[in-house]
Amino acid sequence: MAKQIQIDLTPEEYASEAAVKRAVEKVLGRGLQAGERWQIVRRSIDCRRRHVVYHCTVEVNGESGMKNQESRVKNPVPGQPMLHSPFRVVIVGAGPAGLFAALRALQLGMKPVIVERGKPVEERKADIVGMVRTKVVNPDSNWCFGEGGAGTYSDGKLYTRSTKRGDVSEVLRLFVEHGADPDIMVDVHAHIGTDRLPAIIARMRETILSHGGEYHFNTRVVDLVVREGRVRGVVAERSDAGGPQTLHVEGDAVVLATGHSARDIYELFARRGWLLDAKPFALGVRVEHPQELINEIQYHGRGYSRLLPPATYSLTTQVAGHGVFSFCMCPGGVIVPAATAGGQQVVNGMSNAARNSAFANSGIAVTVGVEDAGCLGYLGSSPKLGEVAARRADGGVCDPLALLRFQQAVEQRVFEAAGGCIDAPSQRLVDFLERRPSSRLNKSNYMGHCVSAPLHEVLPPFVVDCLIQAFKDFDRKMHGFVTEEASLLAVESRTSSPVRIPRDRATLQHPQLQGLYPCGEGAGYAGGIVSSALDGMRCVEQLSGELYMSAN
Ligand SMILES: Cc1cc2nc3c(=O)[nH]c(=O)nc-3n(C[C@H](O)[C@H](O)[C@H](O)COP(=O)(O)OP(=O)(O)OC[C@H]3O[C@@H](n4cnc5c(N)ncnc54)[C@H](O)[C@@H]3O)c2cc1C
Repeated sequence: MAKQIQIDLTPEEYASEAAVKRAVEKVLGRGLQAGERWQIVRRSIDCRRRHVVYHCTVEVNGESGMKNQESRVKNPVPGQPMLHSPFRVVIVGAGPAGLFAALRALQLGMKPVIVERGKPVEERKADIVGMVRTKVVNPDSNWCFGEGGAGTYSDGKLYTRSTKRGDVSEVLRLFVEHGADPDIMVDVHAHIGTDRLPAIIARMRETILSHGGEYHFNTRVVDLVVREGRVRGVVAERSDAGGPQTLHVEGDAVVLATGHSARDIYELFARRGWLLDAKPFALGVRVEHPQELINEIQYHGRGYSRLLPPATYSLTTQVAGHGVFSFCMCPGGVIVPAATAGGQQVVNGMSNAARNSAFANSGIAVTVGVEDAGCLGYLGSSPKLGEVAARRADGGVCDPLALLRFQQAVEQRVFEAAGGCIDAPSQRLVDFLERRPSSRLNKSNYMGHCVSAPLHEVLPPFVVDCLIQAFKDFDRKMHGFVTEEASLLAVESRTSSPVRIPRDRATLQHPQLQGLYPCGEGAGYAGGIVSSALDGMRCVEQLSGELYMSAN
């Protein structure tokens, strides 16, 4: 009979199959007989105490091992006939929210029609490489825009705290069906790696097309088609047809999954007078350390690098009413320029499956609320920010785009500090703490150039104050975190959306726009690959129910 047991293993034991078997037998209280199977079905590394431990769930005589094998067989929409319903779902954006919405639509027999401003993932790669070389950002094809969305050239970390939002294992299963390592079903802190993601995204496209879905690439949505109080589709501009071409893409419902960098979509809503809310977000820097140093701190100097994967960390603290936290930590990673238009400088992090670079990086972000928008006078010269502050001062009604303007203004200031390009303004951590410019910079794994800049003067004062206190606290929690070898790169500003596109709690539709399902990170209902994917599936399940009900 199948049974699950918990075992704890040292890294040395974990590396030896015989030792794992002995640990299993110890917990069972008997020897394993010939023909009995055992399989680790869940594992995590615990390095909180001096002795690093693998916590493992082992299934004895179960089916999990076989399931993992079987999931390699391509079976993306099992048991479902193709397009048995007459409904067409227009999905704007081919990021995790949009792609998983499309896969769920197919499972429910509906035709997904994906409208994506960027290019297929294979072509997108050339633009990203070109962006590093020329320092010019293509506003439709970059680290955030294009097939696979912001999730493609990412670390591909697949953990989420939003387990209440849906079936995480279904998201992981679909990744595995499309070529991800089945180990992602086992690791508590699973990741795919940016070198593997593009092929997975391309296979998802094959699935969607072969099951009757439709793609419109190079097609940027610029408006919604609204008739008789209901959203019927989108108006889009196509840029690959020998000159711009306007087209209408219509369907029975529209899932808006444009991500948190689609500022033109927020501007569209503001222009049309459709409801939007300002949403607290977070902003800060990316900190970079030698990976070996992080391994030493986290694995207590035991030189475990041979037996354990590159170490991660997760840090959080409170300073003067602001949360400060590590975000998207990439062990063995690279820092990338993640701007989506000219005149901005933004950084983010990613890593390959092997996480084998010599650097660890992580965003360190400070929460920013609408109450902070008024303190932007430090940028005095920016008319947009003056406007934000003025609106708050006279009447306290917050402009829904107030925090977006804040984000934009800081990114622009950082861009200027870089000399007007996507070089990364950088400072050594120890200099930042002393509020002095860096006369020399550490080696960095930024995909581009770093330039020395006084980040303590470039970033908003409250962000600087919070970061300084937080770094001191982090050094108490992870002794050695503050070191001559650590660098800061700016600005980590795309942590989550500064705007929410509201939706009704029950119907998931925009309160003024029936038939429109704001979805994923850009709408403010998700953060990260898995939660965005879950939200995409949830919106499609909801709209499917609504369409079938109204048809009967
Ligand atoms: C470098 C980097 C590393 C990251 N690493 C991780 C990680 O390891 N783990 C994790 O969980 N998260 C990570 N993230 C965050 C994660 O990628 C996002 O949370 C996730 O992609 C959000 O999914 P989404 O589908 O809601 O939006 P997005 O992924 O942003 O997708 C939105 C899509 O909409 C398209 N679009 C935008 N505007 C329009 C328009 N007007 N018309 C048509 N199409 C439009 C865009 O081109 C894009 O393809 C990372 C992000 C970056 C940038």
